[in-house]
Amino acid sequence: MTTLEIKNLDVSFGEKKILDNLSFNLDSGQIAALLGPSGCGKTTLLRSIAGLIQPDAGTIRFGKQLVSLSSLSLPAHKRKIGYVPQEGALFPHLNIAQNIAFGIDRSAFTKEQIKQVVKEMLTLIDLVGLDKRMPNELSGGQQTRVALARALAVKPAMILLDEPFSALDAQLRAELRTDVIKLLRTQKTTAILVTHDREEALVSSDVVALMRDGKIMQQGSPEQVYSSPTSATTAMSTGDTLVLSAKRLVNGQTNYLFNPINLDANILEIGEVVIRPEEIKISKDLSSAKIIGEITKIDYYGHDAMVEIAVSNESVQVRIPGPAKYATGEKVALEHLGPIRFFANSKS
Ligand code: ATP
Repeated sequence: MTTLEIKNLDVSFGEKKILDNLSFNLDSGQIAALLGPSGCGKTTLLRSIAGLIQPDAGTIRFGKQLVSLSSLSLPAHKRKIGYVPQEGALFPHLNIAQNIAFGIDRSAFTKEQIKQVVKEMLTLIDLVGLDKRMPNELSGGQQTRVALARALAVKPAMILLDEPFSALDAQLRAELRTDVIKLLRTQKTTAILVTHDREEALVSSDVVALMRDGKIMQQGSPEQVYSSPTSATTAMSTGDTLVLSAKRLVNGQTNYLFNPINLDANILEIGEVVIRPEEIKISKDLSSAKIIGEITKIDYYGHDAMVEIAVSNESVQVRIPGPAKYATGEKVALEHLGPIRFFANSKS
């Protein structure tokens, strides 16, 4: 269990800058989800933390210990990091017990002690009795559990999980994710979970770090990054988002689709308003409606439904709870319940 502090990290491969002045902090015992599109540098960041890549600039500290500086680097095996790479990568020629024991320092422990750790790990991952099986005799989910046990067996100060659930189907993925997070919390292990899946990031972590083009764009609790995005791009990283062009007026009001006030002479800034689909209310009562639209599509998900509505020249998505009481072609009143998140266009 340890804190992690990364400052101004740069990593390039050839001419290409992969991590660009990246900074990131994580408190001891916290679980962070690293969420970002393919190729943005997530694995490169994990490999830098693990000591498998030597950064060009910047510092990485575990607690008070400086483990990476461009001129100094603590070797990977001395960092006490548990690293679960993307494919889980069990050794195919070793059985499950041997896989779990693989990283344990044989000079520091007796055979009996190592056996004991393997037993504890098998109990932890709920695979008691399967110690003699070979990796190809396990399901995908069981293999992921073993990869995790192998990483935890060395009692790591921190664990790095690179999309450990990506190969699994949706239900197994959710079950295993719940188990793994519970396990990490029981062990109070500081952990980073890389994922492409925005729901997985929100549900699994204490801290979500949104990454793009080698930088962390926003870091905060799941609630903060979802409810208070710092831009339309970060909003889109964490959930369904409606982006509407908008004008902020000198008097503090915002002119946008749901508030079509016409005060063009008093425009202070031009930009966009960012709205979540659950922040718009629709109703069949058109009598006092300010905004009216026509339903063009309904996607029913059981627990809720996403209703697509044509309003002026926009297509607006609205999430409504429970069974859809509406029909395609129906006219509805729309109201934006707020908040109004306005982002000015950057002046270039
Ligand atoms: P994904 O989600 O697809 O796994 P990622 O965000 O983890 O992607 P990285 O694997 O860190 O991204 O790769 C970032 C960029 O660095 C990519 O363009 C990749 O091709 C490049 N890259 C990664 N490792 C190397 C390497 N050893 N040599 C050269 N380029 C590399």
